[in-house]
Amino acid sequence: MTFILGLTGGIGSGKSAASKWFENQGITVVDADIVAREIVKKGQPALQKIQHAFGDWVILDNGELDRQALRAHIFKDPDARRVLESITHPAIRQSIIQQLHAATSPYVILVSPLLFETNQHLLTQHTLLIDASEELQIQRASQRDGQSIEQIRQILKAQMLRHKKQELADDIVLNDGQLEHLYQHLQPLHQDYLKR
Ligand code: ADP
Repeated sequence: MTFILGLTGGIGSGKSAASKWFENQGITVVDADIVAREIVKKGQPALQKIQHAFGDWVILDNGELDRQALRAHIFKDPDARRVLESITHPAIRQSIIQQLHAATSPYVILVSPLLFETNQHLLTQHTLLIDASEELQIQRASQRDGQSIEQIRQILKAQMLRHKKQELADDIVLNDGQLEHLYQHLQPLHQDYLKR
């Protein structure tokens, strides 16, 4: 069985930067955010289930999911959110498992902002947290996406508290310096993971 590393961190912590570094070392990275978008593409079974559960209004004229309308709908209605997640979470999980098993690199990474929150860490043998202060997270995420500080605070609020993730993670890298500094911390961990 290939060693599976779970990589996580809050918004703007530097998860993607770390993922890219691991990819450059030849490690396959399965991104839970990408999988979540793939499973609701036009023609996918999960999209048909969503249409069945919510109605035709969730489908755009071109057959794609109307993400904006669905997001607005579940934002006000926790029950609707639960219905949606009961459709998407198993499909995401199944696709993640398939992709992890298909990987041929020495070990494989599952990167997810909600690794612990959605129990995706149970699919992994070991976890690595990319950690940063809230101020740095907000600063980096707002520079990257042009999202307002208020929007980023909302996303932060929905994510597990930093200290809780620190307790759960097997390894932690504090990403509070230059990117080069981050990579220097990842190198010995990569060497360690190669031996697993
Ligand atoms: P995440 O995937 O966790 O949301 P990213 O890896 O996309 O975060 O990082 C958020 C933004 O901050 C990106 O534009 C990234 O290039 C930048 N960034 C990440 N780490 C550093 C760092 N150590 N120094 C400078 N910029 C950084």
